[in-house]
Formats: sequence, structure tokens, C-alpha cells
Amino acid sequence: MSAQRPTLSLVLPIYNEEDVIPELHLRLQEFLARLGLAAEVLFVNDGSRDRSMELLRGIAAQEPRYRVLSFARNFGHQTAITAGVDYARGQAVVVMDADLQDPPEIVLEMVAKWRQGFDVVYGRRRKRVGETWFKLATASLFYRVFAAMIPIEVPLDTGDFRLMGRRVVVALRALRETHRFVRGMVAWVGFKQTEVLYDRPGRFAGETKYPLRKMVRFALDGITSFSILPLRFATYLGMLMSIASVGVIAWALLAKFVFHHVVQGWTGLIIAVAMFASVQLLMIGILGEYVGRIYEEVKRRPLYIVGDTVNLPRERDDDALDDAPA
Ligand code: UDP
Ligand code: MG
Repeated sequence: MSAQRPTLSLVLPIYNEEDVIPELHLRLQEFLARLGLAAEVLFVNDGSRDRSMELLRGIAAQEPRYRVLSFARNFGHQTAITAGVDYARGQAVVVMDADLQDPPEIVLEMVAKWRQGFDVVYGRRRKRVGETWFKLATASLFYRVFAAMIPIEVPLDTGDFRLMGRRVVVALRALRETHRFVRGMVAWVGFKQTEVLYDRPGRFAGETKYPLRKMVRFALDGITSFSILPLRFATYLGMLMSIASVGVIAWALLAKFVFHHVVQGWTGLIIAVAMFASVQLLMIGILGEYVGRIYEEVKRRPLYIVGDTVNLPRERDDDALDDAPA
């Protein structure tokens, strides 16, 4: 489009955020004025069912730095981020929540670190306001378990709020898996990563778009796309059970041939059957999680379908990062 490429792209996924968009617009205007760099703001409308798209069209009509990419339906938060990273034209790309939980002002600190030579600057939450203790506890537990399970180093207490330099963006664009855990993928890519600490405020308005059901699915995607430890767990547990079963068999034989009171074994039998049956079901379930994901990956469908755009060509500008001035 324009010859002038922005230095910084902000990517904001939007799903039913009509209550937030007017305030977001004000805060972004303030931010852009303070930033002092050529910037673009790329809103990814993830199939909102409220007036979000209408509002985005409205604010983008008078602001050429605002661009909107609108999906044909809801594809999910991680996919929306992915599309934003695909279409962003800046030298550095910042992904942030639209609900102002990731304050734009922190981006100034991220840009400063990027200028110092870091490729990734992620926001690490010092405090989180306005979230249920259940969400905080489960999130904290998940990240610690996740970090212990996977061989790459992932920062604790971070979400998707981060700045990525061009090398990282180019690398990330090449990862086209269907089940996406973007924060893990960025860690996987590597390069020089650092953090900025911030207090995470509560949502400005509206409700979380991550109910428990989605959080569980997201956690499973994270674990299964970075680790096969759960599968190996089946092997280890199988070994353990085999060893235990040798003991049980010995006890059963003794009971029959030495002590001659076989009927007494009923309780033990029921416990053993229940134990083995549930362990087997659990393991089949784990297998199923992986097999299902293999199935979805082999279909090789595009990750998202673009319905509409504003101030943005429908085709991705793939060399946007290559011929831009440094
Ligand atoms: N979001 C999205 N698609 C979805 C769910 C969420 O684009 O299917 C967006 C949402 O509009 C917000 C960001 O992703 O900008 C994070 O969602 P939310 O703030 O509800 O999550 P939380 O901060 O509560 O974990
Ligand atoms: Mg939020």
C-alpha cells in the first residue's frame, strides 16, 4: 500500500468488545502521540457478534494508521493473534489484549528494550487485579507444571502481551500448526528475550472471553503441542502396574495353593479391576488427545478465513518485513 512502512505494529484481537472500543481508541490515540514512531494498529475482529466491527469501521474511517482484518467467523484468540502477526507490516510487532489489561504505556518500555537489541520483550505480570482467585491459582499452577514438562524455557506469569522483532516474526510465521499456543511458540523460536514487569489491571469493561471450558482446552493445547510426556507417562505407569501385578499374582497363587481361602479375594479383585480399568481409560483418553490433534493437523486447512478488511489489502504482504528500512 503506502511506501512508508510502519516501525511498530500493534496487534489487537477483538471478540465482542463493543464496550471497550471507544475507550481503547482514546488510549491508543494518546499512546500513538507519545510514541513518536511510525506505527499501525491492526485490529483482528475474530467474528464478533456484537457491534464491534461497526465501531472499528467507524474509528478506522478517520485514522489511516488503523487497519482491520475481519474473520469470516470466530476462530479463537490464538488464531486472531496469528493473523495479526501474519499481516503486520512493522519492524516490530506488539500483541496485546483489547480490553486494556495490557496497558499501551508499557509498550513504550518494550520499545526501549527492543532498541537495546532484544528480539522479544514480554510483559510479566507482577500483580493481577480483578481476577478470581480460581483463575489466578489455576493459571499459576498450569504455568509451573507446563514449564516443568517442556524442554524449552518459558517465562512464568506471562500471557501473549509481548513485542517481537522482525527475526522472531519471520520465524513465527513459518509455524503453521492448527492447535496454537502462541506464547510457547515464541519461546520455542528463541533469540534474545527479556521481560518488563507490570501490574495487570482488571478488564476495562465487558466479560472475559475465556470461560473455564476454553481455559482447559487452551491448557491442553499448550501441553500437547510442546510435550509428549503424557504419552510417556502411560509407559511408565504401565511398567509400574506390571511390577505391581507380579506381586498381586504371587499373592493370588499363595492364597489358592498355600492358604486355601480363595473367596476372600473379592475386595482386592474389585479394587484391581477398577484401578486397571480407570488407568486404561485415562491412557486411551491421553492417546485420543494426541490422535485427534494429529488428525486436525493432517487436514492442513488454512488457519483462518478473512471475511473483510479496512485500510488493508486482503492479500498478505509477505515481504513487508524484508524490504523495510532498518
Ligand atoms: N479474543 C478473541 N477471540 C476469542 C476470545 C478472545 O479474539 O475467541 C480476544 C478478546 O477480545 C481480548 C483477548 O482476546 O482482546 C483476550 O481475551 P480476554 O480478555 O477475554 O481473556 P482474559 O484476559 O480474561 O484471559
Ligand atoms: Mg483480558
